[in-house]
Amino acid sequence: MRQIAIIGSGPAGYYTAEAAQKQWGEDVVVDIFDRLPVPFGLIRTGVAPDHQSIKGVSRRYEAVALSDNVRFIGNVTVGEDVSIAELEAMYDAVVLATGAPYDKKLGLEGEDLAGVHGSAAFVGWYNGHPQFAGLDPDVSGGHAVVIGNGNVALDVARILAKTRGEFAGSDIVGHALDILQQSRIEQITILGRRGPHQIAMTTKELGELAHLERACPRVDPADLPDEGEDALLEPGQRKSVTHLRSFAAIPESHRADKDMEIEFDFFASPRRILGDGGKVTGVEVERTKLDGGRAVGTGETYVVPASLVVACIGYQTSPIPGVPFEESAGRFANVDGRILPGLYCVGWARRGPSGTIGTNRPDGFSIIERIVEDLASGAAKGGKPGRAAFDALAEQRSLKIVRFRDWQNIDEAEKANAREDSPREKFVDVGAMIEAAKR
Ligand code: NAP
Repeated sequence: MRQIAIIGSGPAGYYTAEAAQKQWGEDVVVDIFDRLPVPFGLIRTGVAPDHQSIKGVSRRYEAVALSDNVRFIGNVTVGEDVSIAELEAMYDAVVLATGAPYDKKLGLEGEDLAGVHGSAAFVGWYNGHPQFAGLDPDVSGGHAVVIGNGNVALDVARILAKTRGEFAGSDIVGHALDILQQSRIEQITILGRRGPHQIAMTTKELGELAHLERACPRVDPADLPDEGEDALLEPGQRKSVTHLRSFAAIPESHRADKDMEIEFDFFASPRRILGDGGKVTGVEVERTKLDGGRAVGTGETYVVPASLVVACIGYQTSPIPGVPFEESAGRFANVDGRILPGLYCVGWARRGPSGTIGTNRPDGFSIIERIVEDLASGAAKGGKPGRAAFDALAEQRSLKIVRFRDWQNIDEAEKANAREDSPREKFVDVGAMIEAAKR
């Protein structure tokens, strides 16, 4: 019997469990650990609350979670409640699927001013991640600056722009909805250090900006390359750029009906966050130009006023004591997912925060192939006690484990607590989750 431990219950974790089932059938047991009492990682706390159809993928993970040989072990923090060395001694293979839950730093002066947030914290706040639920961002000023030209920047700008009514059907948490409803933001500037052809925004997400009730996107036509150059782009990117072109063509008469603007400021690299009395007042930006695809500063600077700044510039994995970490890339040091004999990583913890949710599926299958190779060659040792040893340790340490059936109680309670027009009202506090789990 193979004994596999997977750390992290997001997409990478569940696809790896699915791959293990496909590989070994009844001859494997898989324990999936999560520091939260609730499963699904990024699906629950990363995917935007108004993108419910994307969240539907968790039904697939549920099917894996409910199989007899897969267990969810929630509310256990690896590195604190149990060490990696202990897990390595117990399981034939330990796979880190911990994602990239923390913000990359801008590394700029003023980054720590009040009103400056990273997207992990900001997204975690409106998605009810217990760690960030208390963020309480100040939306009483008029101008928000969103740094970055990826899909997370689009998510953040869209969430800041939507009216309460536009959140119907979403599972945005009540505390965020209440704060956003009082927002005085009229201008959202999205800063991109490169140009329209270099965006990392996908078509559907960009297209949504054109249909917001009170907000209208703006692109300066002067920032757009000659239309003929779009032919050089791959088809998806070309479609995205077509959206930017249509935003640039929106007539002023149409804008007059809207009281909020989402402005794309391209070739604009943040250099310093400015503040007064400890609170952000603006972002000093340097105009850039492209040199071989890279943004280089021109020396021209200007200030974009800001009462709120959200940096959406990418994420990093959190290190775990005893596991080699590649600081510069913000992920575990690995070769093809191998970290040390018997210790592996998968998904964002392996390759950094890129790709779609589906990218994690082939990742999961390929790491199981590596494990099969290593067990066969003796590079990883099989025949370990696995589950039974962990259960003994958990009892000895009185760990308060939350199982999948307990999560189903939490799930039911969240659905029962839902506001009208919402699928659920999430618990945002670990204690409340555990209370609900017991029912
Ligand atoms: P991302 O796609 O890597 O975009 C990061 C952006 O930040 C890039 O535009 C990058 O510019 C910019 N950036 C990085 N460092 C910067 C700096 N120091 N100063 C200014 N700009 C900086 O990351 P993401 O938006 O966090 O998304 C992560 C992953 O999740 C992506 O694969 C994304 O597609 C996915 N995602 C998908 C969805 C969806 O499908 N609906 C939603 C959210 C996230 P450069 O290009 O110049 O480096």
